[in-house]
Amino acid sequence: MTPAKRIDGKAAAEALQQEVAERIERLKAAAGQTPKLATVLVGEDPASVTYTRMKRKRCEKVGMESLAVELAAESTTDQVIGRIRELASDPEVTGILLQHPVPDQVDERPAFEAIPPAKDVDGTSLTSFGATWFGLPGFAACTPAGILRLLDLYEVDLTGKHAVVIGRSAILGKPMAGLLLNRHATVTICHSRTRELAGTVAEADVVVAAVGRPRFVPGGWLKEGAVVMDAGYNPGNVGDVDFDSAAERASLITPVPGGVGPMTIATLLEHTATAAARQWNVDQA
Ligand code: NAP
Repeated sequence: MTPAKRIDGKAAAEALQQEVAERIERLKAAAGQTPKLATVLVGEDPASVTYTRMKRKRCEKVGMESLAVELAAESTTDQVIGRIRELASDPEVTGILLQHPVPDQVDERPAFEAIPPAKDVDGTSLTSFGATWFGLPGFAACTPAGILRLLDLYEVDLTGKHAVVIGRSAILGKPMAGLLLNRHATVTICHSRTRELAGTVAEADVVVAAVGRPRFVPGGWLKEGAVVMDAGYNPGNVGDVDFDSAAERASLITPVPGGVGPMTIATLLEHTATAAARQWNVDQA
């Protein structure tokens, strides 16, 4: 079979960011205000510091404001919730993102729940998750939303297709499954206790790998012509799929880096613009 076509997530993300930048201009003109994303970072985990900095830089690039909220590593759950509630009631803040993982002593669920759905641009609250599964307005988690956008961009028809999602985390595998189901795919969710993983993947028309293990899915597991979306991002810039062998069998595949990753932040920006437009009751044209 002809080797797979690569999905260019970097180009797709740049195009989306350009669209968002134009939307921000229109929003500013219509509302006289600028959307503002607050990033809440608890502690100094180096990867989280880098991620939040990257997100704020991208805000700047599209003409949006950002607010860096940095809390001490020893903060309690109540302190984190208290700060998030202040942001929730600040009319200038239109989106709130709590960077995870948070330190062990912080109970992340109530902290995420302190973010009101209207400002939950990272899609981490129960309401956002429910809206994602019900197909109602709300914000889906950014990585799965970005993956769906890539599938649409490359005109992958999901109706009636068998989609296999490997991973069931709250921010990736589970919302991904809901998004695919709402597009009429037949969805199987796999996880660490799944038996016959290779056999299940072999039946998939679309595979989403969200495992967190380098090169976990070998090309030999795939059906010829499968569409492969690799959400993995492991040390050494390696995905959860063995790219070289998978590209031999897939029809479409995301590389790592340059596939799913860039779309995550672009989707976050897009959600923040949408959140502002809804909060200000401004036509989103
Ligand atoms: P996670 O919370 O650790 O979840 C991993 C999932 O994989 C779990 O559901 C786990 O099953 C499953 N799993 C682990 N070992 C398995 C095995 N041997 N067979 C089948 N399933 C197995 O990870 P995550 O946050 O969803 O992230 C997944 C990957 O995506 C990571 O590489 C992460 O770096 C990447 N990621 C990328 C972005 C981005 O913007 N590109 C954003 C977020 C995450 P159990 O539930 O049974 O434990």
